[in-house]
Amino acid sequence: MEELAGGIRRVTMPLPTRPGHVHCYALPGDDGWVLVDTGLGLADARERWAAELAQLSGPVAAVVVTHFHPDHVGAAADLADLTGAPVYQGEIDFFQCRLVWGADDWPERLAVWFGRQGVPAGVTDELIQQGTTYRPFIRYYDEPTLVGPGDVVQGWRFVAAPGHADGQLCLLRNGVLVAADHVLDPISPTVGLWPASRPDPLGDYLRALETTIELAPRLALPGHGEPVEDPVGRARALIAHHAVRLAETERLLDEKPASGYALSIPLFGDDLKPAARRFAVAETLSHLERLVLEGRAGRREDSGGVSYTAAQ
Ligand SMILES: [Zn+2]
Repeated sequence: MEELAGGIRRVTMPLPTRPGHVHCYALPGDDGWVLVDTGLGLADARERWAAELAQLSGPVAAVVVTHFHPDHVGAAADLADLTGAPVYQGEIDFFQCRLVWGADDWPERLAVWFGRQGVPAGVTDELIQQGTTYRPFIRYYDEPTLVGPGDVVQGWRFVAAPGHADGQLCLLRNGVLVAADHVLDPISPTVGLWPASRPDPLGDYLRALETTIELAPRLALPGHGEPVEDPVGRARALIAHHAVRLAETERLLDEKPASGYALSIPLFGDDLKPAARRFAVAETLSHLERLVLEGRAGRREDSGGVSYTAAQ
């Protein structure tokens, strides 16, 4: 556990895959600590947390899950059990959490959906395997207190940060934004289209970055990487990054329909492992859907699947 400015503590948990770590935070709250995010539910997650909690003086008043991705929600049930504190999770996010991790048919739904985006069957099968590998490590908490933007827990205000996940929530107090995977540096947070996601995740993300600029926090504490000392500058850089990626994606389009999978190859290379390919296709699709909404691309959908062309 590391001490940061303002009495905030940072707890770093390991990840078996890139980027190799996830940061959780213990924030000083009105009646005790607010723990933000839980790490992956690895076999020793409970012991690790018990050791970290022993270093905190005073009670844990709340556990907050920023979004349902495995590295953030994975050990939520363990933490709820260890602390006895209420768990807060966004309403939209918890709905998706249960949809993805609570239902046995999700990998199959994902596979069918990826198939309609042009992903070959061999790759889809591997995608499902990758998806199921993570499942034992996701012990989300079943009965969270559902919250939304504007709600306050222990003096910290929830701020909507959709894009990386539709229902992602950050926390803000005294100019400190606990940013989850909304603003990272130097990583660019993944912004993908998924089955059952909102229709325009990149548009959501770009608007959320504009909100970050308006809120003008002086510090962002991210889920991965070091604290972001200039969150407004970083938000501007991420907006610019996606403008470039949108232009690159637009340039690949012509009158011949191409799938999200086919277009992901020139954008992300052709030698990705299945899990990385899944993110590449989802990210390509979020850019394509934004281009369609901006009138810069055409979209077709028929029994064979979804494809994209240059604007008609
Ligand atoms: Zn993350």
